[in-house]
Amino acid sequence: MKSLIEFIRETYQTNEFIPLHAPTFPGNEQAYVAETIASTFVSSVGKFVIDFEHKIESFTGSPKAVATSSGSSALHTALYMAGVTSGDLVITQALTFVATCNTLYHMGAAPIFVDIAKTSLGLSPHAVQAYLEEYGVIDEHGLCTHKETGQIIRALLPMHTFGHPVELDELAVICHRWNLVLIEDAAESLGSFYKGKHTGTVGDFAALSFNGNKIITTGGGGMLLANSQSSGERAKHITTTAKVPHPFEFYHDEPGFNYRMPNLNAALGCAQMESLPLFIEQKRALAKHYQTFFSNSELQFVHEPSYAKSNYWLNAVICPDTQSRDRLLKSTNDNGVMTRPVWQLMHRLPMFKDAVRGSLTNSELIESRLINLPSSPATIGLTHA
Ligand SMILES: *Cc1c(COP(=O)(O)O)cnc(C)c1O
Repeated sequence: MKSLIEFIRETYQTNEFIPLHAPTFPGNEQAYVAETIASTFVSSVGKFVIDFEHKIESFTGSPKAVATSSGSSALHTALYMAGVTSGDLVITQALTFVATCNTLYHMGAAPIFVDIAKTSLGLSPHAVQAYLEEYGVIDEHGLCTHKETGQIIRALLPMHTFGHPVELDELAVICHRWNLVLIEDAAESLGSFYKGKHTGTVGDFAALSFNGNKIITTGGGGMLLANSQSSGERAKHITTTAKVPHPFEFYHDEPGFNYRMPNLNAALGCAQMESLPLFIEQKRALAKHYQTFFSNSELQFVHEPSYAKSNYWLNAVICPDTQSRDRLLKSTNDNGVMTRPVWQLMHRLPMFKDAVRGSLTNSELIESRLINLPSSPATIGLTHA
């Protein structure tokens, strides 16, 4: 069998270093960014911000999208809108990028880590259900509280790992039953659909990210998706300093944030959105190419769940054990092909080491065996077109 390194080099047709994920700018990126500079509207006011929000709304079907300065600030806004406050608990997964939990920390809230499903690598409805049956209780105000700590469990925060959608219908039923706000960390899943619905549109709120390594980039930036026009408008208000519109007076009616996305970044986003269908096609073709390569291998390719259509943001394989994972990490990285292990589980980080948690069997297994593979859009597979 061809070695994995040879296979990846043939796929990308280069002898140079191959990164995990690099952005590409095949369309109007230069033109739109130049246009903002020529117009002088490079900052928080400008037509590209509105345009970009509308493009995301029509692509995802979200009733209201609000552009923000990062995925993290979109998450902060979503949690704030959900009423998460100091002392609250939020159920999330331990297998995620640290940004999912950082915002909770800064709000004085804390995560509860519950296990992932093997099929999605995201929050497992069975594990959440079992956890709540053991530790959740509805108090006299109808709020879900934690039996042992007495804290309010305010929200459920699943993350669509590497772009693969979690089981949203099942999680939504649990949220309804336990009175939890459903917030989707959809930072990695622009272009991924759950039973025909775009990720981020099932929950009450969601956050997208346009950081440089995501499927499209604005340099840095994010987007909050709201499931109603009115909550979206309030989110826009608080992310823009809560200023009440007036020709000259400064009046702000609540504590706001300055989480606006600059027009300069939105210009890049508008151009990238024009290429998003191409990127998704390229990434799905690349995933299929990997999947075929690994079909007779002891490495198990991570494919989309049967109920979903994934953007395959990052390709991944699960190794038979930790030793073989470490050998593969070393040989690829030594040969200029970037691969990396998955994030260390959140409860291993100093700031979340005391977090309340359930059993994390699947999370631990994936943590010790998974490797991400180079996933930049390649032209492979498009030759059939
Ligand atoms: C990228 C990412 C974020 C944060 O996005 P930024 O735009 O970098 O703030 C949040 N959650 C997950 C899972 C991510 O991958």
